[in-house]
Amino acid sequence: MQKHIDTYDFKGKKAIVRVDFNVPLDENFKITDDTRIRAALPTLKKVLAEGGSLILMSHLGRPKKVDPKFSLKHIIGHVSECLGVPVQFAEDCQKADGQAAALKPGEVLMLENLRFYAEEEGKPRGLAEDATDEEKAAAKKAVKESQKEFVRKLASYADCYINDAFGTAHRAHASTALIAKYFPEDKMFGYLMEKEVKAIDNVLKNARRPFTAIIGGSKVSSKLAVLENLLGKVDNLIICGGMGYTFIKAEGGSVGNSLHEDDLIPQANEIMTKAEDLGVNVSLSVETRITQEFSNDAPFKEVPSHQIPDGWEGMDCGPSSIENWARIILASKTILWNGPAGVFEFPTFAAGTEKIAGLVAEATSRGAYSLVGGGDSVAAVTKMGFADKVSYVSTGGGAMLEAIEGKTLPGIAAIEE
Ligand code: AMP
Repeated sequence: MQKHIDTYDFKGKKAIVRVDFNVPLDENFKITDDTRIRAALPTLKKVLAEGGSLILMSHLGRPKKVDPKFSLKHIIGHVSECLGVPVQFAEDCQKADGQAAALKPGEVLMLENLRFYAEEEGKPRGLAEDATDEEKAAAKKAVKESQKEFVRKLASYADCYINDAFGTAHRAHASTALIAKYFPEDKMFGYLMEKEVKAIDNVLKNARRPFTAIIGGSKVSSKLAVLENLLGKVDNLIICGGMGYTFIKAEGGSVGNSLHEDDLIPQANEIMTKAEDLGVNVSLSVETRITQEFSNDAPFKEVPSHQIPDGWEGMDCGPSSIENWARIILASKTILWNGPAGVFEFPTFAAGTEKIAGLVAEATSRGAYSLVGGGDSVAAVTKMGFADKVSYVSTGGGAMLEAIEGKTLPGIAAIEE
């Protein structure tokens, strides 16, 4: 049964904690952004303050074998500074028995990068390019078999398991999901995971109405499952950014050189029909800022979104689109935002995304619940200074996207079931 970090008795216990310390490093192995480390600190400090000890496990990068470039050794100094205690290091996550056994209350041990082992992900490595299907199946079976021992070993180090790595919650890996079954009475979410799970529930299970989803970004193909899942839940669906032009074309509009996916026009039509059947208000851009060149400095003008001339490309939404969306956003009680409304990386085409960020912030200040998550909209609200003016900004891109698609995340299910 799932336990709660606030009520669990950590005194004298060893907690093995899956954290997401997959931080960016420069060429001298200095951390360039420690957000993910800081995000796990409340959980880690709680265990130490309650008289427990910590065994930290994470991945770093995507190594396919033991590779010093991806060693977690590079970050222990910083983790130690953040925690205010020394951090010991186990150079092989499968040979840490002695170090784990010797841990005293208040002490911290970090295991080497879990992905030095194929068993963490449970995917075979080193298969020849011309491997037959039988060989692939045999290799898969072999790694799944050895994965059991890998998981058992990690679990043997500790008395309880905490998952605080939302960024990998959509993966059914050894450390993110499989290990939980060794702690049927001693497994729990860390504070970060808990916040993410609550945020997802606030929009997908307990939304106050009207519920508006703002879905933008580049491609319909990467958001089809998101749109389909949200149709049955929302009152308003604002479709913006590059993906909007496929819908505009589906309605018979001219989109010029704007990003669009002709092969998805039938799906776009289906989504519009289904929305109508369900009484969901779909709102597309009515005015677009266009250029003849994909560049920040190219001359631009604003035109109706359905009449983009040949040779011109939509880069951002225009003021009339924002006026329409302002009415919808400001009347909403729940808002989910995923994907920017334009090429926000170029200041000339960031206005639409910035205006939406401002509107979501304003709706929040009037009592709406707002969740920003699942990709570039997070970068946009952070860059534009709105991160603390919305209810929650998710830390997990892929994981949040899968949650919004309606998928069960293995890392969450393993704790809750
Ligand atoms: P996604 O990862 O699908 O959320 O897409 C984010 C990307 O969509 C950002 O890099 C934006 O620059 C891009 N984007 C948004 N609007 C447009 C547009 N009108 N044309 C081209 N790219 C866009």
